[in-house]
Amino acid sequence: MSDMGIHGHVRAQGSARARTCACEPVRTWKDEKPCDRGAAGDVWVFAEQRAGRMAGVVFELLGEGRKLANALGRRLAAVVLCGTVAPPVQELISYGADVVYLADDPRLEYVRDEPYALVLDRMVKRYRPDIVLFGATAVGRSLAPRLAGRLKTGLTADCTGLAIDPETGLLKQTLPAFGGNIMATIICRRTRPQMATVRPKVMKRAVADPLRRGEVIRFDVAPLAMKIRTSLIEFVKEVTDTVGIDAADIVVSGGRGLGGARNFGIIEDLARSLKAAVGASRAAVDAGWVPYSHQVGQTGKTVCPRVYIAVGISGAIQHLAGMQGADVIIAIDKNPDAPIFRVADLGIVGDLFEVVPALTEKIRKASAGA
Ligand SMILES: Cc1cc2nc3c(=O)[nH]c(=O)nc-3n(C[C@H](O)[C@H](O)[C@H](O)COP(=O)(O)OP(=O)(O)OC[C@H]3O[C@@H](n4cnc5c(N)ncnc54)[C@H](O)[C@@H]3O)c2cc1C
Repeated sequence: MSDMGIHGHVRAQGSARARTCACEPVRTWKDEKPCDRGAAGDVWVFAEQRAGRMAGVVFELLGEGRKLANALGRRLAAVVLCGTVAPPVQELISYGADVVYLADDPRLEYVRDEPYALVLDRMVKRYRPDIVLFGATAVGRSLAPRLAGRLKTGLTADCTGLAIDPETGLLKQTLPAFGGNIMATIICRRTRPQMATVRPKVMKRAVADPLRRGEVIRFDVAPLAMKIRTSLIEFVKEVTDTVGIDAADIVVSGGRGLGGARNFGIIEDLARSLKAAVGASRAAVDAGWVPYSHQVGQTGKTVCPRVYIAVGISGAIQHLAGMQGADVIIAIDKNPDAPIFRVADLGIVGDLFEVVPALTEKIRKASAGA
């Protein structure tokens, strides 16, 4: 195994047995060139943004990062890479960052892995954070492993819990493993920084304090020679007349029970009547009925709406992993023994082709009368 893979010591919670990776490299910051020692040991959050607008997960990472930094007695830093449009860095400070590292350069206008990983690599080597957190977004999932590879350190993907071990000061990175059947806690003992990605909507968002003050440090990217093998040809925005599932208050999801792409129209109708987003099980996505961006679950998105309506979805553990945080779960399925009913607050046992149109009709009438 290369020393660029995922390292660490994996322990199933509640079990006394522990496994330590025998090929774990022994490498600390001592191997690296001198750095800004005042910044060493801080907790970093990668502040993902597009055209000056922060990704929602950044505020969740700042909330979690603040707790970690406090536990370590270190500073919390947000790291922004951008082109000509500078994001509002004061926003990051008001949400908990003590320091904002800003790297701006026209070559960083759009997120591309090569230049982004190179700049982050240089920044990390210069300031030596102890912990670096990314959102498990499309950008974070692509960038974090590249950076970990360059730094020859460990990376734990899709964490649902982060904490500092009070005895060792190590970052305890917890995530569901083996299809969600156990929780594994991973530590990265010997390499730095300790790196993790966290799914959007899993951690609590930080609360803003507009009066907070912090420091902004500009990292000079201009002297860096960048070999960039990719170029952006076109930016295609997904066109949809419903809300995105990540941000929606209500999500209506359809599964294999729909039986075909065309039948998904009844899910879209119900969603439209409720101003809700359309989600889907993996079975529906794999069948090509809906795009992957709608998939809810372990290998899709985690959603945390006020109401989640599952239609023709049996409730496999991998699906539950993405929606169990909803405040109210409503299930519609013809099988009274479907596991989805075990997590549902309200259940309707019946044929979805009768139940869903009738429900949509009632909601439309009620909204029209309101
Ligand atoms: C590593 C891994 C990762 C995975 N990740 C995900 C993930 O991210 N998200 C995900 O969803 N799955 C994921 N899966 C797949 C998961 O295990 C299930 O196979 C999948 O969720 C099943 O989808 P479903 O509930 O739509 O289909 P089914 O399990 O086939 O359920 C269909 C349901 O529809 C009901 N039904 C049928 N006809 C009607 C009708 N006319 N009226 C009412 N009800 C009806 C049936 O009773 C049944 O309960 C993953 C699996 C693996 C191994």
